[in-house]
Amino acid sequence: MRKLIALLLVSLPVMVAAQRTILHCGKLIDVVNGSVLTEQSIIIEGNKISDIQKGYIKAVDTDKVIDLKQTTVMPGLIDCHVHMESETNPNRYLEAFTMNPADYAYQSVVFSNRTLMAGFTSVRDLGGSGVNIALRNAINKKIIVGPRVFTAGKSIATTGGHADPTNGYRRDLMGDPGPAAGVANGPDECRQAVRQRYKEGSDLIKITASGGVLSVAKSGENPQFTEAEITAIVETAKDYGFRVAAHCHGAEAMKRAVRAGVNSIEHGTYMDDEVISLMKQHGTWFVPTIIAGKSVADSAKKPGYYPDLVTPKALAIGPKIQGTFAKAYKEGVKIAFGTDAGVYAHGKNYMEFVYMNEAGMPMLKAIQSATVSAAELIGVYDQLGSIEKGKLADIIAVDGDPEKDPKVMGKVSFVMKDGVVYKKAEK
Ligand SMILES: [Zn+2]
Repeated sequence: MRKLIALLLVSLPVMVAAQRTILHCGKLIDVVNGSVLTEQSIIIEGNKISDIQKGYIKAVDTDKVIDLKQTTVMPGLIDCHVHMESETNPNRYLEAFTMNPADYAYQSVVFSNRTLMAGFTSVRDLGGSGVNIALRNAINKKIIVGPRVFTAGKSIATTGGHADPTNGYRRDLMGDPGPAAGVANGPDECRQAVRQRYKEGSDLIKITASGGVLSVAKSGENPQFTEAEITAIVETAKDYGFRVAAHCHGAEAMKRAVRAGVNSIEHGTYMDDEVISLMKQHGTWFVPTIIAGKSVADSAKKPGYYPDLVTPKALAIGPKIQGTFAKAYKEGVKIAFGTDAGVYAHGKNYMEFVYMNEAGMPMLKAIQSATVSAAELIGVYDQLGSIEKGKLADIIAVDGDPEKDPKVMGKVSFVMKDGVVYKKAEK
């Protein structure tokens, strides 16, 4: 035994000072205080932020200095509502019959890369086939390049509801998918569906509490779970450390979901005064996805882009979301940034900032919704969501001043995730 210890001691590597990376930041958005600092240095050691200092600090020989003096630096952005497996196109509904999981996997690699390069260092994937779980694992293992993925795996729906994977199929193909496939009826099956997500390795639970725009079904807003079913889901989710996101367009579905204790309402199109006051009372987050609404309404104007049942829903629901957002923000509902990427083209996520700003939210607040607030909603604020000592080094920079022009959020010139530089524009 003593010999073994001696051997271990001898083979210990000589401790050398870790290489530091120093970012010289012309402007730095302090998302904790909602202010903009100038001429700051961020020091990164390994995958963590070790310090932030005033001025452009001098480097020693072993330091690597990155010049971001002409940019606005901020924490890596977090999109709380994406679908990494797919992307809108006129053949989307046919894909269910033509694509294999490997096809989804390959294209999700491209979408992940695009998302990270757009400055989104973390995303919450709110539903796919389950390939999104393998995607998360491959990114974590550094096999492929992408944002940190917090995934719901497969969304949970009721029979015929939004996210029942066989809506609109002919009867012999429709079958009767159950809790394993994410379709649950009654509190017992709802509990089973949550446990199945745990078994598969999801990070959170997504339910489709009301009808949706893109499912081949008549209503985009009807309530699709009973309150008892949602309560069963929320209670079971808590046992497994899951948070619950609820897709809702209709007000009745939102009331049931909020009372049952879900953590976030996604889309929220027909939010009324009662929903707003319930959300404030329960501290429920609102994830608006304005860009998705606008995008589906635009696509619906192209003949044949969507099935006939979908088109009128897209035209009616889509354009309303921005107005709902404006009202909810004014009334003081907690907002976390989310876009429904995949429903529109991945990588354009920044347009949500433009629409939020148009609807009355100052840019610093919109950026806080995509950093501090998003990290709080996901439950990772101790690690992510701000540039502070000890946090993970997820940092981006944009060319220009987002307070003067929200569109510069689309001009991302620097991306660091977990202390690794993935994008750096050549000067
Ligand atoms: Zn969605």
